[in-house]
Amino acid sequence: MTVYAGLGVRTLINAKGPATRLSGGIMRPEVAAAMAEASQACVDIAELQAAASRVIAEATGAEAGYVASGASACLLIAAAACMTGLDPGRMARLPDARGMKNQCVMVRSQRNFYDHAIRAAGLQIVEVGLPDRYAGAGVRDAEGWEIDDAITEMTAAVFYVADSQSRPPLPEVTAIAHARGVPVIVDAAAQLPPQDNLRRFIAEGADLVAFSGGKALGGPQASGILAGRRDLVMAAALQHLDLDVFWDMWEPPASLIDKQRLKGAPQHGIGRSCKAGKEEIVGLLTALRLFIAEGDTARHARWLKDCETVAAALAGHLVTVTGGNDVGLVPTVEITPDPERMSATALCLALQHADPVIVLDPAARERGVVTVNPMCLKPGEAEIVGRRIAEVLAPR
Ligand SMILES: *Cc1c(COP(=O)(O)O)cnc(C)c1O
Repeated sequence: MTVYAGLGVRTLINAKGPATRLSGGIMRPEVAAAMAEASQACVDIAELQAAASRVIAEATGAEAGYVASGASACLLIAAAACMTGLDPGRMARLPDARGMKNQCVMVRSQRNFYDHAIRAAGLQIVEVGLPDRYAGAGVRDAEGWEIDDAITEMTAAVFYVADSQSRPPLPEVTAIAHARGVPVIVDAAAQLPPQDNLRRFIAEGADLVAFSGGKALGGPQASGILAGRRDLVMAAALQHLDLDVFWDMWEPPASLIDKQRLKGAPQHGIGRSCKAGKEEIVGLLTALRLFIAEGDTARHARWLKDCETVAAALAGHLVTVTGGNDVGLVPTVEITPDPERMSATALCLALQHADPVIVLDPAARERGVVTVNPMCLKPGEAEIVGRRIAEVLAPR
């Protein structure tokens, strides 16, 4: 009996992509094996994080790196690091951020529910810009001068959510922030692929960047990467690690935590609830290595093959494969059911109620479109997805 059957929990075919509510994606056997192996020995967790820092630095071009329990967790400790610096008193007081730099400037159109992570650390968001380009009423979003205008002596960071439509461009934002002595935190949780994005945001001046471990990287669902400036990663680490240790006996790895720079011992910090275990750290580093080794071209070809399998099973219906020509994109299948016969919502629900449960992506249902995302399909599942959609669309 499988672990899930033993618990009476149904497994599902995830044709939606690595959503947390669907438990993320499928780890490669090598990643699962690395996690199992890691679970069989104890290590000094700071020493393991220092090793992770080296691997992440090499992969991203950043000075340092760190692993926490998701991109969201990384954003929380990034925000804390920008507020406290290396001051243990401030670290102890968070999320009470009175008396310290406690604001972050954020473009209004980039607001989203994941920014709860930085607010949880004690940061207040100061929104700028009026994105009338989305309303069709105008052409603007937020402009560089508006960010500059909003920076005050209370500004701990500028928070930027990376996406193809984010404005102003990141290099402009980092130049403005740095001219005022303010760091820039980038949420790049879902910005892989393309693989170049591992390095891009750091190259564009970001001081800290967060990526999800459980999305395209194929790492453990409860893991995320923080990459960036050495002093900020040190401040983040100090607010995340278990520091139940006597100061005179505490010997942290100097490459991650330079004890000489501290006036005293920080206590358990606000990031303590974002714990990453040795299994997650090792699993994530293994996944990162495999992600880089596979490369965009091979990964895209693997995903595109699954898309073509689904599309072929749906010959005669209105079906388009998107992203087939750009190896930096995730290709998908867009299915438009005949609205006379079935709505996009009804198609999704029919497969959600069937056996096996198949979860499709309804995000484009207002256009009458249902999307198949291949990222979390296992070998053989594309055939099942195509066949089941065909059966539901045209019952015999
Ligand atoms: C997925 C996502 C997150 C959260 O990432 P986790 O690794 O699940 O914590 C944050 N921000 C954005 C934009 C995301 O897409």
